[in-house]
This record gives sequence, structure tokens and C-alpha cells, in this order.
Amino acid sequence: MELFKTFKEIQKKQKAYQLVLNIASWDSNTEAPKNAIPYRAEMLSIISGESFSLATSKAYQEAVYGLFKEKDQLNEQSRKEIERAKRGLDKIVKIPKDEYVEYAKLVNMSQRVWEDAKENDDFESFKPYLNKIIEAQKRMIRYRGHEENAYNVLLDDFEEGMSKELYDAFFDVIKTDLVPFVKEVLAKKPNEKPAFITDLYEEADQKRFVEYLMDVFNYDLDRGLLKKSVHPFTWNTHSQDVRFTVRYLKNFVFSSIFAAIHELGHALYEQQIDEDLDTTNLNTGTSMGIHESQSRFYENVIGRSYPFWEVHYDKMKTMFPKQLENVSLDDFYKGINWVEESFIRVEADELTYPLHILIRYEIERMIFEDNIDLETLPEVWNNKMKAYLNIEPQKASDGILQDVHWSAGMFGYFPTYALGSAYAAQIYYTIIEELDFEKLIKENNIAAINNWLKAKIHHFGALKKPRELLKEITNEDFNPNYYVRYLKEKYAAIYLKE
Ligand SMILES: [Zn+2]
Repeated sequence: MELFKTFKEIQKKQKAYQLVLNIASWDSNTEAPKNAIPYRAEMLSIISGESFSLATSKAYQEAVYGLFKEKDQLNEQSRKEIERAKRGLDKIVKIPKDEYVEYAKLVNMSQRVWEDAKENDDFESFKPYLNKIIEAQKRMIRYRGHEENAYNVLLDDFEEGMSKELYDAFFDVIKTDLVPFVKEVLAKKPNEKPAFITDLYEEADQKRFVEYLMDVFNYDLDRGLLKKSVHPFTWNTHSQDVRFTVRYLKNFVFSSIFAAIHELGHALYEQQIDEDLDTTNLNTGTSMGIHESQSRFYENVIGRSYPFWEVHYDKMKTMFPKQLENVSLDDFYKGINWVEESFIRVEADELTYPLHILIRYEIERMIFEDNIDLETLPEVWNNKMKAYLNIEPQKASDGILQDVHWSAGMFGYFPTYALGSAYAAQIYYTIIEELDFEKLIKENNIAAINNWLKAKIHHFGALKKPRELLKEITNEDFNPNYYVRYLKEKYAAIYLKE
């Protein structure tokens, strides 16, 4: 088909631009000297502009919309490609280019303002930018013709098929079933945090342990690379080039260990995608939620499990003999599953984590549905912290200013984090039916688990939609009860048994 050939040609060119931009962004986030940034930003904005022009060009629109009309004549893979391309195009095509460029500048600027505001605990200086971003978001949704349902559009952008009705049902389960349980655990937990958690662990030793973990999880170094950065992340261009970063905090060794396992989860997903998809737009994880389900599955379900450390604790002890000299495996297990009321989402433990997301979800709804006065946001935030976690931030950097997302215009993104954890739990109750999961972990046979996830999830890239995929794997629609059940089983055993 002539039109499909045009589509593939333009897509290839776009992928070329994207590759260059991605490599530049990897470099910015890992190695580029600070002073290199302004000149680079200007040069790269030219490439971004070219890429945008191509992505909205008449030829590309004709190809995508033309093929979409005749999609029933395409084979399955080509049809999925066109559907995905159309989804991307719909998001940007009705937005005037001037406004798009203006918005990109606003977002760039406001991220810088946010950094300073956070540093100085000064919500006031960030507020006008936040206001402009929200207004711009609402305007862009209007261009797309969905004025009525603004928040739903945002939720669907980050996780196809999700809506506030579905998220409401999910968070209702969290509120009703999980919140009281969390309070019970918090009331019973010991007061004193064990010293080995915050002891000094040298960076070079932490790095060696992360390298050991890369080996344990069968991360392929011929197609991967580890570096350090301010915030850990996974980066990929296609299945043959999937890198990740961690950071090393001298007084918090678990940060590098569990960030590494988390990012390894993202990275294994990308490395295990079918190579044949590399020349398509389906060569990436299918959604934020499914991606996060994989990272959390590796980090929490495997990495924070007792069987995992039955195998690897000796290795850890030989690498950190001084810090762990008098720490038993049982104590170590409790240490890595330490639960506490905390202000900062990214440092929160597995059990209290969803409450941090619940707070953001409720506030985002208020912003987009109730047009809440932004003046009151810090107070609303603090009240919700008090209600759900019984602590109150004393400064904005511990509260509303802690996350970068809103300054980058990412509303509707947060809920996918909790959704990912819930997907992971649902997948867990399937995998233990089909594999001798605990035994495989005890035999250090992570490869067998990787293979299962590859066959059920990773291999498909974005060929299947998130909810379709979950249903195929678990024989059930998304069911948040698994998540609560998983957390209760695990944390009752640690904290509530006599
Ligand atoms: Zn993640």
C-alpha cells in the first residue's frame, strides 16, 4: 500500500530525530557539564522543531488518517501501529503551533522556577507558573474537543483506558480497606529505626553491589549501561540500547539497592521486547501503569521479599561486614520493609506509598473539576497529609513543592504509580499459580521469572493495550483487591503477629 510506505518513511525520519534527542538527553542527565546546557538547549530546540513539523506535516496526517479509515484492511501489527500513531497525532494536531512552542517554553521555565521555589520553600513564587500551566492544559484539552471531561482526558493520556470512574473505584478500595490497616501498622511499629539502615556505606562499595544485582537479574550489558544521576531513571531507544541510572546516598544504602532493582525492572521490560518491533512505534512498554507494574514487581515483590535475601544476604554481609556484623537476616528483612509516616513520596515505603498518590489524585481532581483556588493548595495538601498519614509538613518542600511533575505539566500521571503497584500485585497472584515462584527465587533463578514476564508481557511491546494485557495474563479485569490483600499479608506478618 502506497500510503503505508509513506507512513513508514516519515516514521523512520521521526525515529532518527528522536534517537538524536534521546542520546542528547541521556548525556544531559549523566555527564554533560553544566555550562554546556544553554547552547545545547538552543541547538536541540531546532531539532525538536523539525521533529514537530514532521509529526504534524500534511503528508503524515494524510497517511495516518487515511490508513486509519482503512485499518481493517491492514494486518494486526500495522493496524496497531496506525492506531498508536493516530492517538499521538490527535493529541497535538489541533493545537496551534505558536501555542505549542509557547507551552514548551513555559514548561521549561517553570521547572527552573520550581527548583528554586522548592529550594527556598516558597510556594508563592511558583504559584503564577502553576496557574499558567493549568490554564494552558485546559486550553489544549479544549482544542482537542474534550472540554467537559478535562481530567479524564489527562488520565487517559497517561494510561489508555483509565478514567476517573475507574480510579475512583480503585482509590475507594484504598481508602476503605487499606488506610485503616496502615494506621494499625503505624501504631504497632517499633519507634527506633535500626542503625544499620542509616549507617555509612561507601559509594564504591554500593556500586559494586549494584553491579552484582545487575548480574543476578540477568540484565544484558551488551545492550545496556549503568551510570549515576541525580534521580534514577531508565532510558532506551530500542531493545538493543536500554540504560539506567542510580544515585548513591552514603547514609542510605537501600536507596541505591532498591532504585537499581526498580530501574532494572523497567530496563528488563524494554530489553525483552520483540526485536521485530524495533522499526515500529510499538517498540516500547505499552503504558506507564504496566511499566511501573514491572519495576515495582522486581523492586518489591522480588527485591523486598524474604526468599530473595535468603540467597543474597551473605553476599551483602561479605561486602559490608562492619555495618551488618550483628544484623540477622530477620532484622535485615524488617529493615528493608521499614514502615513509617513520611513526607516525601519518593522515599516512602511500599505500604504507605499509595496514600501519597491518593493525596495527589484527590488534589488534581479538585484542580480540574472544582477549579479550586490555588491559594489554598498548600493548606489542602497539609490537611490531607494529616488525614491519611497523621503528619503535617512544616515547609512547602516537604509538601506541595516536593514533586517535579506539575511544574512539567504532568497532571494525571501520579495515579499510574499506584496503579502499577496494584497491577503488580494482581500479576503476583497469577504467577504463583503458574510458577514455583518462591523456589525459583531461592534457587537464584530470576531468568525463569524473566522468561515468564517476557512471554506474557514484555515480548509484546505496545502491541496490546494495558487493560487487555492484564486481562489476558490474569483472566480478570483490573481488581484492586489483590493489591490490598498482598500488602496486608506481607505487612501483617512483619508487624502484627504476636
Ligand atoms: Zn518507575
